[in-house]
Amino acid sequence: MNVADSQRVASALERLGYQAAAYPDQADVIVLNTCVVRQSAEDKAVGHLTSLRPLKVRNPRLVINLMGCLVGVKGYERLKQRFPFVDVFSPPSDPGPLLAYLTQDDSRLLEQAETQRRFELMDGELVLPAGERGRLVAAHVPVVLGCSHACTFCIIPYRRGVERSRHVGDIVAEVRSLAAQGVKEITLLGQIVDRYGKDVPDGPNLAALLRIIHEIEGLERIRFLTSHPNWMTDDLLEAVAELPKVMPHIEVPVQAGDDQVLENMKRGYGAEDYCRLVEKIRRQVPGVSIATDVIVGFPGESQEQFQRTYDLLADLKLDVAHLARYSPRPGTVAERRLPDDVPDEEKWRRFRLLEEMQEGIAAEISAVYLGKMVDVLFEEKVRGRWKGRTTTNKLVFVETEEELRGQMRSVQITWTGPWSMQAALPPRAGNNLPLNLASLPLTPAD
Ligand code: SF4
Repeated sequence: MNVADSQRVASALERLGYQAAAYPDQADVIVLNTCVVRQSAEDKAVGHLTSLRPLKVRNPRLVINLMGCLVGVKGYERLKQRFPFVDVFSPPSDPGPLLAYLTQDDSRLLEQAETQRRFELMDGELVLPAGERGRLVAAHVPVVLGCSHACTFCIIPYRRGVERSRHVGDIVAEVRSLAAQGVKEITLLGQIVDRYGKDVPDGPNLAALLRIIHEIEGLERIRFLTSHPNWMTDDLLEAVAELPKVMPHIEVPVQAGDDQVLENMKRGYGAEDYCRLVEKIRRQVPGVSIATDVIVGFPGESQEQFQRTYDLLADLKLDVAHLARYSPRPGTVAERRLPDDVPDEEKWRRFRLLEEMQEGIAAEISAVYLGKMVDVLFEEKVRGRWKGRTTTNKLVFVETEEELRGQMRSVQITWTGPWSMQAALPPRAGNNLPLNLASLPLTPAD
């Protein structure tokens, strides 16, 4: 979500005539977009912000904009006192305060008519920042902003506000514009993305939105995240199974495998419900990959309760588990009402146990790909190797001098590890190997 928000700010600044600077000390405006989902992220944001103060001292005309979840949606008086060198505070997803600040000051005001002309040209669509135009292969498009669920550990509803679905017309215009700018893969975003449209009477739901976006020319892949176990409908799974551009990959957090812990988190489902859901997803979308999130060391989590989480992950053998150690976020229900009573070393121990087991599961799942042909959409070159993803969101690297950016290619997997794979391009047509790509399986799932 923050990547998408940052692109939006960069794009809005370019419309005002700004360009990206290579280093902070060359910039006229610095936007620090922040995440506070964990304490470590918040500490990092505060560290970065503090490191900007000397720049402001050297150059008082420098505009520093603090944006995102550190600011939140409920006022920023305390932050203003703590960081007096910050000029503008913006809530998540909202470039408005920065734009208003930049255009209110006469000495900074660009030619109004020119600005207006540019806005008209853009016609409300998202234009990628210059550095990414024609180069960005996969982009994120927020479709639901905020969250009204209020899980007890989570700070997001306090920082990103109540749930709001974007208008379908705006989303389609944005995706169409991104496709025209060379983007091949879109990920639709929401804190609970499958609740898309629930707050709009008679509006389309996520399944219908997928069907609409599926028709956009130039777009090759569609993903969506994050789902919530209570909102994953048959209708949505049918759309995933039926629509060839919608990738068979579902991100649906479980958070814990024990019912009491889930109740304390106010997640709204039990461990059995989650297992049934995984079974259903696998039945309805053959070959699907599933990713989950887990928090260890939630207040009151006993060894037995943790063991249930361990057993659940061991049984389900999901493709990916994003693991986190619980850290109390100020202002949340858990922070106010539930003592953070699992010692740090114990949180680490539980974390490592899950990490080790999940590494084994991921390695097993990846090994099935060895020798297979898979479709990979290549995004960028990283340290001399092309990086892309399979339909199931597995990372694949290929070493070649060929230009692969934005290309969908069938490649043969030559090495697999838990977190990534290596592959080779098939020999070009015209040599005498009897390789008929059309007859080879596209993914192990196929
Ligand atoms: S559903 Fe997700 S974003 Fe919403 S409160 Fe729960 S964890 Fe936070």
